[in-house]
Amino acid sequence: MRLILLGPPGAGKGTQAQRIAELYRIPQLSTGDMLRSAVKNETAIGLAAKSMMEQGGLVGDDIVVGCIRERLRDEDTAKGFILDGFPRTEKQAIALDDLMDHDGISLTAVIEILVDEELLLGRIAKRASDAEQRGETPRSDDNPEAMRKRLAAFHETNSAVVQHYAGRDQLFSVDGMAGVRDVTNAITRGLSARETCPRNP
Ligand code: AMP
Repeated sequence: MRLILLGPPGAGKGTQAQRIAELYRIPQLSTGDMLRSAVKNETAIGLAAKSMMEQGGLVGDDIVVGCIRERLRDEDTAKGFILDGFPRTEKQAIALDDLMDHDGISLTAVIEILVDEELLLGRIAKRASDAEQRGETPRSDDNPEAMRKRLAAFHETNSAVVQHYAGRDQLFSVDGMAGVRDVTNAITRGLSARETCPRNP
């Protein structure tokens, strides 16, 4: 099962990717998590990505494609994976096609989470206050200003990514405004339909 989860910041990609990863026993590959860990560990990638992430802009394609290329070499991804937050640009989508072609593998599904964006700022504020209540430091980009930039970045590049997959059998969308479990169920239903399709083993 090789999956991509698309959707704006705050749409629930991380939550759903984690649930789907557990259900299908595949690793969740989140470029956001990889970059945050690089920033925390002050690696060269982290130092290059830090300020762009804090501002809510997109980190360079070469950096994130490099992260995914490395991660796909790990053995645990051989049985499948769910990509969360990647690809975010058409260039990344093309690079992913190339990486997968090179390995002789193909995507099972591309899932687009659709949400009412008016409600996203509220969701992000809640994510920040939930983290504070747990005694954790909220993400440095979970604030209204960075969120507006993250949404703008999403709109600048997402339609080209969706367009890249449009017309392929793999692409389907789910209503991200439903409850967490209902969204997961909609995703698993969409996946079962595709698993029975001989063209998408
Ligand atoms: P996320 O956790 O997916 O919301 O990502 C947090 C931040 O990491 C984004 O706002 C970007 O600055 C950066 N980032 C994550 N994934 C990508 C990507 N595929 N391309 C460019 N920047 C990314």
